[in-house]
Amino acid sequence: MADCFSTQKRREVMSKIGSKDTQIEIKVRLWLYHRGIRYRKNCKTIIGKPDITIKKYKIAIFVHGCFWHGHENCKYYRLPKSNLEYWKEKLEKNIKRDKENIEKLEQMGWNVFVLWECQLKSEFEPTMIELLKKINAIRNSKENQAHLLSK
Ligand SMILES: [Zn+2]
Repeated sequence: MADCFSTQKRREVMSKIGSKDTQIEIKVRLWLYHRGIRYRKNCKTIIGKPDITIKKYKIAIFVHGCFWHGHENCKYYRLPKSNLEYWKEKLEKNIKRDKENIEKLEQMGWNVFVLWECQLKSEFEPTMIELLKKINAIRNSKENQAHLLSK
């Protein structure tokens, strides 16, 4: 990552990126919306505040920025040379928190999907089609269960 910002400035810029909907998140939501998927975004009552939740089917989708969420072996996850310790600690905390959140959600019966920024950037359409297939499979199995129960 080019070091064009001072440390202070970089922290400011980074904290803004971290808290706002990213373009790629918006793109993912729109894609799903246009295919009839209705969801909630950043639902605060759900662990980890997933970017997208489909409560009816207990589906939680995270759109992870590779830098912020420390995507392993990814070219976008490179620690800045300045203030290395600060970033290392911060990002390792993020990675740990993500892992814990996903585990908790899965224990509670949620279907958790993580979409990585790099994957979406290089193969948006195939990634989304794959996700949609999985969403539909979950939807079908839940609806079959409901059907059996009502018999
Ligand atoms: Zn990545």
